[in-house]
Amino acid sequence: MKLVISFVSITIVLSCSVIKPAYKVGKTKYAEKYASTITQEELKKHLEIIASDEYEGRETGKKGQKMTAEYLKNQLTSYGVAPGNKGSNFQYFPLIETNKPQANILFHNKDFRYTKEFYFYATMANFEPFEVCADELVAVEYGIVEGKRDDYKGKNVEGKIVVIKLESPEDFSKWDWRKKLKFAESKGAKQVFFSSSNYASNLEKVHHYLTKSSMRLATDKVNKKELFIPFFFLSDELLSEIYLMERPEQEFLNRYPQYETIQFLYTKGMGRLESSNVVGLIEGSDSVLKHEYIILTAHYDHLGIQEGEIYNGADDDGTGTVALLEIAQAFQKAKDEGNGPKRSIVILPVSGEEKGLLGSRYYTENPIFPLENTVANLNIDMIGRLDQFHTNKEYVYVIGADKISKELHQINEATNKKYTKLELDYTFNKDNDPNRFYYRSDHYNFAKNGIPVIFYFSGVHEDYHQPSDEVDKILFDKVETISQLVFFTAWELANKPSRLKLNK
Ligand SMILES: [Zn+2]
Repeated sequence: MKLVISFVSITIVLSCSVIKPAYKVGKTKYAEKYASTITQEELKKHLEIIASDEYEGRETGKKGQKMTAEYLKNQLTSYGVAPGNKGSNFQYFPLIETNKPQANILFHNKDFRYTKEFYFYATMANFEPFEVCADELVAVEYGIVEGKRDDYKGKNVEGKIVVIKLESPEDFSKWDWRKKLKFAESKGAKQVFFSSSNYASNLEKVHHYLTKSSMRLATDKVNKKELFIPFFFLSDELLSEIYLMERPEQEFLNRYPQYETIQFLYTKGMGRLESSNVVGLIEGSDSVLKHEYIILTAHYDHLGIQEGEIYNGADDDGTGTVALLEIAQAFQKAKDEGNGPKRSIVILPVSGEEKGLLGSRYYTENPIFPLENTVANLNIDMIGRLDQFHTNKEYVYVIGADKISKELHQINEATNKKYTKLELDYTFNKDNDPNRFYYRSDHYNFAKNGIPVIFYFSGVHEDYHQPSDEVDKILFDKVETISQLVFFTAWELANKPSRLKLNK
């Protein structure tokens, strides 16, 4: 008897947790009425402007980004959306741009060139021009000291340049270049030259990163401790020039460099720039709940002009940007007609995303609305294309929705079920997904601060980060439906009686 009873009770407990009542969308006559003002015709009209050549690819800190900010501000103002930052539509932030380095190594009357015969990461150490005697080089094979292995044995590397093989033997796979570099530094080395048997393919992988300018927030303090000693990756050609002879592996340590100088010429250009997030506010109608905020983001910056080609970024993230305009207009219309949301809606097109999620990070480090009163962030980044995993365009990837608040996930499910009926694809929501999209767009800066987020995304495609990401390839009916889903979910979040429950 007992066994049976306990069996039955277990069954009941299980079924209770399985058949949890799904979230029920609040009754409203109005959500659909205002969502229907989000139309593909208007989305297209906006996108044809901001993703045109005239906007020069909207690169952060550059003319096209500023033109886009101005366009967004003018649209928001024309809808009647209030400026969100103490009377201004902008939240400015300062940037430091480091241009692509100009660097050469002169040796044996030969001129070796950056990104050809050698490369380095300009932002990871202080690279200054130098001239050294070639006999300052000390080879330490793999540069590993662990267990019985001691590649530094009998070698004094204090104040020297150590030459280290980049690849490690099988049992020492933890020894990547960072670890080797830090170790060489701890031994007193002043620089490291890495040799590699895969130089060409390694270079190929990072070439794009090496040949463009980089940006960082000027408000970030550069932590000297995070900088390495100067380090270079050398081609075999350059290395064998340094060692003068062919260099069979086993003889690596026996080679003696010549008494000649190695000259490293280097100039780097740095400049200060300014960019901005755009901020619009649709203040909540409830005197208490208006102090709680739903923040809607999309990045309006893109890659600008590279080697004469304009990267218009129609999908990335033109689609998210124009979606925000239409959603703002819908909420403002509701408010103007006396049906506005109870909580406040913040429309926050951010910039600096392509430079490393800078605008959204600046916002969360300098929040205009208190983070503790920020209920959720819904972020839209690329919603206008079909990826290789789908044949039917009626889908959207939903990422991150359940990570901080399961209730948020349920709400998004419920609004979609009631209104938009898209296939919600959770493939990229898995914790171990190798693409790591959860960490790759602006919502992550909110999630990092414990704020529930949803990232809406339709996937990558062959035009991703290419000059061919153009307006004529955008599926505007798809953009319309996903924008409406974001609107419905935001509407529900803004009007529901209690604030979102966070996961325990
Ligand atoms: Zn993007």
